[in-house]
Amino acid sequence: MKIITTNQELIHSISDERLLGRSIGFVPTMGALHQGHLDLIRASLDRNCYTVCSIFVNPTQFNDPKDLEKYPRTLSSDSEMLLKAGCDLLFAPDVAEIYPKVPDTTPSFDMIGMDRVMEGKFRPGHFDGVVQVVYRLLDLVKPDHLFMGLKDYQQQAIIGRMILALNLPVFLVSVETTREEDGLAMSSRNARLTPEWRQKAPIIFETLQAVKTDVLAGKNISRIEAFYFSKLTELGFRMEYLEICNPLTLQPISHFKDKAVVCIALWAGDVRLIDNILIVA
Ligand code: AMP
Repeated sequence: MKIITTNQELIHSISDERLLGRSIGFVPTMGALHQGHLDLIRASLDRNCYTVCSIFVNPTQFNDPKDLEKYPRTLSSDSEMLLKAGCDLLFAPDVAEIYPKVPDTTPSFDMIGMDRVMEGKFRPGHFDGVVQVVYRLLDLVKPDHLFMGLKDYQQQAIIGRMILALNLPVFLVSVETTREEDGLAMSSRNARLTPEWRQKAPIIFETLQAVKTDVLAGKNISRIEAFYFSKLTELGFRMEYLEICNPLTLQPISHFKDKAVVCIALWAGDVRLIDNILIVA
C-alpha cells in the first residue's frame, strides 16, 4: 500500500492507475478506524480495481474546538489495518495541503434545507465543512465510486444531493451500518463510553427497531417520537433529537406512506452518539 501526504503525489499515483484503465474507489475517513470503515474498504475492493482511503481530521466540520482537539489520531495502527484489508493507497494530508491559502473554490448548491435539520440544527456549519472537504477530495481523487456509511445517514444524503446538483461524475455507494454484536453502531467514539454507558448503549438500536415496528403498525408519528424520546430521557440519556423523516429530503413527516428514516442523536454521559434506521413498507 502506498502512503502519501501531498496532492501532487496523489494526482500522480492516480493518473497512473487511470492510464491503466483501472476503476477507482474512494473511502474518505477521519481515521481511528474500526470494522465499519474496513467494510467500506471491502465494498470498494469488491467493485473497483484500485481503492484509495483518505485519513484527514477535517477542522472545518467541527463546530466545537474541544471536539476537534479530542478527536483520536491513530495513523500508524490505521495504516496497518488498511494494509491488511487490501487498500491500495492511503492519502493522509495535513491541513495546509487540503486548505492552501487560496480562496475557497467549493461551488455552492441548494441543499434544499437538508443541512438545517437534525445534525445541521445541533452542529451549525457542520455540513458546510463536510461538503467543502468531500468536494475538495473528490476533485483530487476523481474516483468512479465514492463509499460512505449509512451510519451518518444525513451526511451521505447531503453528499448525494451535492453529486446530483453539481452533476459530479461519481457514483455514491452507501454502505450498511456495521454494528457490535449487541447492536451498537460501531463508532470511534464508543471507546470513550464508561462501562456503565457502554452497557446501556444497545438500547439505542433497540429503540430504533421499536420505532420501526410502531411506524409500520400505523401508529401516530409525533406520538411515537415523543414516547421514545421520553423513554430514552428517563434512562438517563441527554436527548438531542429523535426524528422520523423523509429519507430523501430529510424533512420531518407527519404520516408514513412507504419510506422513512428514523434518526437519533443523544449524549451517553459525555459521549455524543448518533444512529438511524431505514423503514421501507
Ligand atoms: P468517519 O471517519 O467517522 O468520518 O467515517 C468515515 C466513513 O465511515 C463515513 O462514511 C461513515 O459514515 C463511515 N462509518 C463510520 N462508522 C460506520 C459504521 N459503523 N458502519 C459503516 N460505516 C461507518
